[in-house]
Amino acid sequence: MSEPTAFSGGCQCGAVRFCAHDLNDDAHICHCRMCQKAVANAFISLVSVDTDRLEWTRGAATEFFSSAKTARGFCARCGTPLYMRDTDGTKVFLTIGAFDEPDRVPPRRQVGNEGRRAWFASLHALPGNATTEEAWPEGAAAIKASNRQHPDHDTEFWPPEGRIE
Ligand SMILES: [Zn+2]
Ligand SMILES: [Zn+2]
Repeated sequence: MSEPTAFSGGCQCGAVRFCAHDLNDDAHICHCRMCQKAVANAFISLVSVDTDRLEWTRGAATEFFSSAKTARGFCARCGTPLYMRDTDGTKVFLTIGAFDEPDRVPPRRQVGNEGRRAWFASLHALPGNATTEEAWPEGAAAIKASNRQHPDHDTEFWPPEGRIE
C-alpha cells in the first residue's frame, strides 16, 4: 500500500498510471478556452505536483503542445487528459478527475474566468436522477457487464484479464 500522502490515478483504460507523492495546495478549476478544449468540457480541474514528487507507475503519456509554453499530456490509447505543464516549469498539473479518489482533492479557486460558460453557475440546480442506475437501469447493467474502465486503484497486471482485448 502507498503512504497516506500519496495520490494515485490514471487514464480510463489503465495504460498510464501515476502516483503523486505530495500535492501542492493549489487545486483549482480553470475556465479558459484552451483548458475547455483540452478536456472537451466546460472547465478543467487541476492540482500540481512537483516534478520530482511525481512517479509514472505504468506507461507514459503522449503530449500535445497547445502552445510553445504548455504541454498537455494524455493517454494515446484511450484519450484521457492527464495533465498540463509549463515547458519551463518544475511542476505538473494533474487532472483531478483522473485521480482514484478525486474527493481528496477539492478545488479551492477558479481561474481563467474570461472563458467561464454562461450556464456554469446554474449547473448545481439542474434536475436529474440521483444515480445512473435509477435513470437508466438497463444501460447501467450493460455497461457493468462489459466495463473496460480500469478500476480506481493500482493493479498488478495490465490489461486486467478479460477486460481489454
Ligand atoms: Zn488510457
Ligand atoms: Zn486554462
